[in-house]
Amino acid sequence: MRIRAAVLHEPRTPLEIEEVERADPHDDEVLVRVVAAGVCHSDVRLADGELGDGRWPLVMGHEGAGIVEAVGGAVTHVAPGDHVAFCIVPACRTCEECRAGRFNLCLPAGENGPRGVLMDGTSRLSLPDGTPLQHALMTACFAERTVVSAAGAVPLPPDLPPWQASLLGCGVVTAHGAVRNAAGVNPGESAVVVGCGGVGLQIVAALRLAGADPIVALDLDPSKLDLARKRGAAHLIECSSPGTPAEVARLTGLGADHAFEVVGRPETMRLAWDCIRPGGTVVVVGLAPRGVEVSLPAIEFLSDKTIRGSYYGSGDAAADLPRLAELAVSGALDLAGVVTAVEPLEAVNEALDRLRRGEGARTVLLIDPEAAGYTV
Ligand SMILES: [Zn+2]
Ligand SMILES: [Zn+2]
Repeated sequence: MRIRAAVLHEPRTPLEIEEVERADPHDDEVLVRVVAAGVCHSDVRLADGELGDGRWPLVMGHEGAGIVEAVGGAVTHVAPGDHVAFCIVPACRTCEECRAGRFNLCLPAGENGPRGVLMDGTSRLSLPDGTPLQHALMTACFAERTVVSAAGAVPLPPDLPPWQASLLGCGVVTAHGAVRNAAGVNPGESAVVVGCGGVGLQIVAALRLAGADPIVALDLDPSKLDLARKRGAAHLIECSSPGTPAEVARLTGLGADHAFEVVGRPETMRLAWDCIRPGGTVVVVGLAPRGVEVSLPAIEFLSDKTIRGSYYGSGDAAADLPRLAELAVSGALDLAGVVTAVEPLEAVNEALDRLRRGEGARTVLLIDPEAAGYTV
C-alpha cells in the first residue's frame, strides 16, 4: 500500500512529502490511520543530524494520535476504530529494566528506537524502489498511516479530540512525568522552569496541578512567558541577564526547590543549577546534541544539590497516557493552549524552521482534518 509521508533523506535538508510503501502489521503490531501529529524540538535534533549518524532515510514524526485500522493476530488491547496516542517507548514488560519498573528505559525499545525499526528489529516502510525506511522513534507519524509495535498504540477516551490527543505521547507525558515521577514535586514547593516551549509550558501546567508555589518561568521570548503565565506561572523572567539566579532567589527564598531545564544547552543547565536552593534538585528534560558536555561548580555538591536526567517522563507511559487524557477531558489539563500553529502535513518544514528559530510553542499537523476534531 502507498501512503503519503514526510521523509528525511539526508540530515539538514528539507523533508520531502512523498509516496512511500507500507507493509501490513505483523502479529504484535497495529496499523493506525494518523489523524494529527505534534512537531517536537527533538524532530529538529534528528533532522539536523545531531542525534548521531545512520538515522536516514526515515519517516519522521514521533508525537501523534490516530484511529486503529487493523491489528495483528496477537493484539488484544485495541481494536479497529479505537482512538490511540502513540507511545515512543513500547515497553516489552519482560526485560531487566521493565521488571524493575523502569519502563521508560526498556532495553529492546532503547535499542530499536534509535535504529528506526519496530520491536522485532525490522521496518514496515520503504521507498518505492525498495530501500527500507526507518520509523522515527518506532512511530513515524508524519504520514497518513503508520504501523507501530502493539504497545506503541495506547487507547484513549474517544471524547478527547485527536488534534489535542496528538500532544500526549511525547511532550505531555515527558513534562508531567518529569514533575511527578522524576522530581516528585509536593504542594507548596517552589519551582523554576528554564525554557517555555511546548514541553516547558506543559511542565508549568504540571507544576500547577502538583500545587507548586511559586512557579517561576524563564525564557528569552516574552510571548512564551505570556503563555507560561496563562498556564499558571506566577513570576516571569526574561533570563538574558546574569542577575537571573538572584532574582529567582528573591522570589523563592533561598532559591527554588526544583528547577526544570527544558532547552538542552549547557548554559541553561548551568542556569537551572544556579537557581536552586541548597538541597534543591535540577531535572534536565531538554535534549542536548551528542557530544555536548556541561560543567558545574563542584564545590556546590557540598550543599546537597542534585542534578538528574529524565527521559520520557521517568515512569510507565502506557499507564500515564490514559490518566493524562482523562485530566484533559475533565478540563483540569489544558492541551490546546500550548498549540501556537495548526497546519497541514505539507507545512512540516516551516514548523521545524520555527523551532530552529525558537519561535512559538507546539505546531500540530492535521493529517486527517475531518477526524481531528479541530475547530477554529
Ligand atoms: Zn518529542
Ligand atoms: Zn523492556
